[in-house]
Amino acid sequence: MKIPLLDLKAQFRQIRSEVLSVIESVCDEQGFILGRRVEAFEAAMAEYLGCRYAVGVASGSDALLLSLMAAGVEPGDEVLTVPFTFFSTAGVVSRLRGVPVFIDIRPDTLTMDPEQIEKRLTPRTKAIIPVHLFGQCADMEAIMDVADRHGVKVIEDACQAIGAGRHGRKAGTFGYAGCVSFFPSKNLGGIGDGGLVATNDGDLREQLLALRVHGSRSEYHHDHIGLNSRLDAVGAAVLHVKLRHLDGWNAQRARNAASYQRLFGEAGLGEHVTLPVTDAGNVHVFNQYTIRARRRDELMAHLKAREIGHRVYYPVPLHLQECYQPLGYQHGDLPVSERMAREALSLPIYPELPDGHMERVVEGIGEFYAGVSPRG
Ligand SMILES: *Cc1c(COP(=O)(O)O)cnc(C)c1O
Repeated sequence: MKIPLLDLKAQFRQIRSEVLSVIESVCDEQGFILGRRVEAFEAAMAEYLGCRYAVGVASGSDALLLSLMAAGVEPGDEVLTVPFTFFSTAGVVSRLRGVPVFIDIRPDTLTMDPEQIEKRLTPRTKAIIPVHLFGQCADMEAIMDVADRHGVKVIEDACQAIGAGRHGRKAGTFGYAGCVSFFPSKNLGGIGDGGLVATNDGDLREQLLALRVHGSRSEYHHDHIGLNSRLDAVGAAVLHVKLRHLDGWNAQRARNAASYQRLFGEAGLGEHVTLPVTDAGNVHVFNQYTIRARRRDELMAHLKAREIGHRVYYPVPLHLQECYQPLGYQHGDLPVSERMAREALSLPIYPELPDGHMERVVEGIGEFYAGVSPRG
């Protein structure tokens, strides 16, 4: 039995006719750039998230980039973030010739450790980007508290956490801006690239509406220098259809996570693997189900030989990436992130996961550890 990490075709089969019919409608309308399809989806997203505004853009990376531009990040400005994330989180800072300042994560939730913030703040700190990693919110009360005390803007990287909640509020609605990605493997995946910024700030919304069309508020008049970063009408229409299914899919991911917890418990693998921890008050949407595993790389070879899907998010923490050598970080500077890069292993969790797959995944992992010494 071959077990893929993700099977997007299984989801498409369930919504095929709905999706194809809305694509046909947009083709009949021949309105592809912004317009009513995008506006309707933005309104639906703002309602879903419980925020005032939502602005569609070309990708999650651009959602971050445009939010940083609106926040006024200039060359030499510092932006605090974590190194255990997708490259984009820090890459956008560098793209504006800002300086990413990396702080470590909590070992349990793998999200930004708020205790690390204050000592790295300087007069040049313009923003903080916490990442709601793998589908659960960072400790937003603590992060907002430090940020507010120092007058620093918070831009949430909610790219993996659409629909996640914390104490009754949705991921992406705590800070100045909340950035969402519709990359196909995200919980709300588009038919191409796409992204969105959620905000309650009317001024930010106005800026984003201009920045995504070359900084123009009225046609051919440019007050600022922006870029071309829009969500396509076809993409928005498809996402609008899929949004109606999102809560159901997220709930199924959570049920799958609960099944893993039971299966790993029954297999008695507690010596070898650490299961994901959901922080108190969080609703986790499990974009990834990521365990920590002893002898991970050997385990991966074992799983690969048995065609059991898995992947390492993320094998190299950003402060140790080749391109960030000039920032001067050393091995050992951010020990929790570095350890996670050695131990983290993501397993299949997608909502349409067929019966028996999780059992086989846990069995495969059990077989590996049965062959190694318990303290290895
Ligand atoms: C996917 C992702 C992004 C970037 O989103 P794109 O839409 O691919 O540009 C940024 N940050 C994190 C944590 C992500 O997972």
